[in-house]
Amino acid sequence: MLENMRNTFEDNQESAAEEKNGEKNEKKKSEYWSGITDGLKKDIMDFAAGYMKFLDKSKTEREAVKTVSAMAAQNSFINIAEAESLKPGDRVYGINKNKSIYMAVIGEKPLTEGFNAVGAHIDAPRLDLKQNPLYEDSGIALFKTHYYGGIKKYQWTTVPLALHGVIALTDGRVADVNIGENSEDPVFLVTDLLPHLAAKQNAKKLAEGVPAENLNIVAGSIPSEEADSDYVKNTVLGMLKEKYGMDEKDFRSAEIEAVPAAKARSLGIDSGMVAAYGQDDRVCAYPGVMAMLSIQGVPERTAICILADKEEIGSVGNTGMESHNFELFIMDILEKTGIVNPYALQRAFSASRALSADVTAALDPTYPEVMERNNAAYMGKGISIKKYTGARGKSGASDANAEFVGFVRGVFEKAGVTYQSSEMGKVDEGGGGTIAYILANRGMEVLDCGVPVHSMHSPYESASKYDIYMAYKGYKAFLESC
Ligand code: MN
Ligand code: MN
Repeated sequence: MLENMRNTFEDNQESAAEEKNGEKNEKKKSEYWSGITDGLKKDIMDFAAGYMKFLDKSKTEREAVKTVSAMAAQNSFINIAEAESLKPGDRVYGINKNKSIYMAVIGEKPLTEGFNAVGAHIDAPRLDLKQNPLYEDSGIALFKTHYYGGIKKYQWTTVPLALHGVIALTDGRVADVNIGENSEDPVFLVTDLLPHLAAKQNAKKLAEGVPAENLNIVAGSIPSEEADSDYVKNTVLGMLKEKYGMDEKDFRSAEIEAVPAAKARSLGIDSGMVAAYGQDDRVCAYPGVMAMLSIQGVPERTAICILADKEEIGSVGNTGMESHNFELFIMDILEKTGIVNPYALQRAFSASRALSADVTAALDPTYPEVMERNNAAYMGKGISIKKYTGARGKSGASDANAEFVGFVRGVFEKAGVTYQSSEMGKVDEGGGGTIAYILANRGMEVLDCGVPVHSMHSPYESASKYDIYMAYKGYKAFLESC
């Protein structure tokens, strides 16, 4: 790990020496952006183009499940519920309540000898509409929201928002909501105070400048002629009735997420990065899925991709990683490959390996003070492994075993995957967690390994196309490792 970081810092000094050393120079050419071949650059750019399309179709966990299951179905994966038995080489997926999805390519060895898993999450910070969201004030109809995940609230004002989600009616019908993505669609907005009248707001702490209860979304402004009161609110309700057959009470059983309406775009004049909403953690989920689809024939060990929901609020609920639904998927594979004994599940877990595929923070040159440079992740220096996450004395960390970190490094180095080793921020500066500890609780070897990003949890995060491609290469090599 340290070796790799040292390369980052000493590139300049080393480059002169490397010019005289053909072999070393050759190796350097395969690392980082500088000196990469035209072929590799094209692969990186093409992969990112596919990723950006995926992002635009997958702004919520439900949409990501739909996109991924369609991709899987197009690549000979079948729903595990439809498979009576499974044999090596079979490809299956399992969907958990439309919000999380697992994929597997059955390996040659029995599952009790262990599987290789890449686990990412497909939920992202956003503003959820409350269950009684709609009200009218001063001629404007608004939606109340309850934010989801860790956000800096001020970032979510005056950003064009789209509404995505479902409305479940009492008769069992479920209407899909998607307003604000097409260029002819209207968008939604949280307003903010004009600077002319913001002297008091400006004097507040940043975290208090925009309180959560001010994250109200403008929903409409034309009064209804039919209503006796709540004129604008009634216009909005009338349109919702027309569009979705819903009444106001149906908000109680709706899940509507306000997400940035912006599309994913290339960032910088060289188009070297992707700027988009929801890259935490779809920037790891997409490479994980693509790595699964790229597996040819029959792998030695079963390869599995986990796309979990609810990571941003603690992996809770029956679609989060803490639920036992993933176990059921593994038990289904055991049963359908003819392994039925009471210890099989635990044996399988204890012999298995996983990469917890989640983003980390890249050192931002505008805010370097929160990072310790020797152990920071850098943009464009490859996928980042994190032996541990956590905060304040590694609290809450799943500290990967050195032997396993060595194994993963070996897999990456053999496959020519550029990687770096990092911690997220200075010690005691803050911290964060992933699903790593949950997989580790089941007895698996787990290492955090993901793409470094800037502006994590903001409406528009950025990541290097180089690192995104290295995530794909790294996850593929790991899934196929023996
Ligand atoms: Mn994440
Ligand atoms: Mn996150």
